[in-house]
Amino acid sequence: MRSTDVAIVGGGIIGCSIALRLAQQGVRVCVIERGRPGAEASSAAAGMIAPQGEAIAAGDFFRLCTASRDLYADFASEIEELSGEHVGYRRDGTVVLALDPEADQELDKLQRAHLRLRLPMERLDAATLRERIPQLASGIRGGLLVPGDHWVNNERLTQALAKACERCGVCIQPETEVRALRTVGSRVECLELSAGERVAAGQVVLAAGCWSSRLAAPLGLCVPVEPCRGQMLEFESDTELPCVVRAGHHYLVPRQDGRVLAGSTMEHVGFDKAVTGEGLWSILTAIGRIVPLAGLRFRRAWAGLRPDTADHLPILGYGEHENLVFATGHFRNGILLAPITARLIADLILTGSTSHGIAPYSVLRFRNARQGAKRTATVT
Ligand SMILES: Cc1cc2nc3c(=O)[nH]c(=O)nc-3n(C[C@H](O)[C@H](O)[C@H](O)COP(=O)(O)OP(=O)(O)OC[C@H]3O[C@@H](n4cnc5c(N)ncnc54)[C@H](O)[C@@H]3O)c2cc1C
Repeated sequence: MRSTDVAIVGGGIIGCSIALRLAQQGVRVCVIERGRPGAEASSAAAGMIAPQGEAIAAGDFFRLCTASRDLYADFASEIEELSGEHVGYRRDGTVVLALDPEADQELDKLQRAHLRLRLPMERLDAATLRERIPQLASGIRGGLLVPGDHWVNNERLTQALAKACERCGVCIQPETEVRALRTVGSRVECLELSAGERVAAGQVVLAAGCWSSRLAAPLGLCVPVEPCRGQMLEFESDTELPCVVRAGHHYLVPRQDGRVLAGSTMEHVGFDKAVTGEGLWSILTAIGRIVPLAGLRFRRAWAGLRPDTADHLPILGYGEHENLVFATGHFRNGILLAPITARLIADLILTGSTSHGIAPYSVLRFRNARQGAKRTATVT
């Protein structure tokens, strides 16, 4: 049986970011990935680093998201330096659009809330919007410029991150599935791999995205992460959008070489990654209100599975086993949250403490909820 200090299940942006931080501290890390590193949700995403534009309610999770956003410039340039690859990190802001009067009022509310937090947002009327973004469709009432929200080419980032990991000594084992976590008492003793091999690890990190509950369930653990399908389209356009534009859950994200991404859907349909007529229709209908579709030439479409949880918050830290750490359930914000997740989980493993409290994200919140539900049922 092979052994390592830390075994990480899942080579998405979350697993690889944690691996990088640990390896930089001299820890022997092995990432076991069923397919290719970063090939699932982490590549399928749009790459927005946008807690303000996402309109996340003020509170601990919003602070976690903005803290991660603040780490991004350094994170991106560090990965570029280590890998020698460009990751397309852009700081040109995001424009949130109002397509109807109610949305316009919502933008006023959002701006007031963020001003109270001293996070700037600039109100743009229809004429100013058109000047800044000439590609916009007519009929848009107004918008909000969020200078602090950025974006990154997440496909490039995940590839560069895997390269950076290997250059820092992480052992990435692709095309290998973790079939089971074997426990002795309150410890995970080893991982059983598809190749018939076993790996013993001092610490195990479960970062298997929306597949995380499949490995936890046989241990009797309640880790309610489920897939939320998001469909995406890619177009070519002769004129590049100057920044991300979004309205509600729909958005256009400019990429290099005149490409632009359009997304997305939010569908709880199990582990099905099909691209459907209905999904494409809903995206096209929504983005057709943002930019004229005639200027967009279709290139490709795909779907990815966001790791969603019952309360849409991530699951971070230890649970019932003393050496099993969770880093999963990042739902719509895993690209954004990668730098802070990596820092917190690496600190937790190395020092036993974290700079940002992670109690609200403990997996035990679901166990308590389940016991509470059982008690209520008994009393009724
Ligand atoms: C359409 C879409 C748009 C998005 N847009 C954004 C955005 O703009 N900004 C943002 O911040 N987030 C966005 N997200 C969310 C983001 O993509 C996810 O939160 C993030 O990628 C989760 O990363 P992860 O590493 O946890 O999961 P994944 O990238 O899914 O990685 C998990 C990995 O675990 C592996 N695995 C699973 N089971 C096993 C096993 N048993 N053994 C070995 N390996 C295993 C899988 O093969 C996979 O590679 C979007 C997601 C989608 C789908």
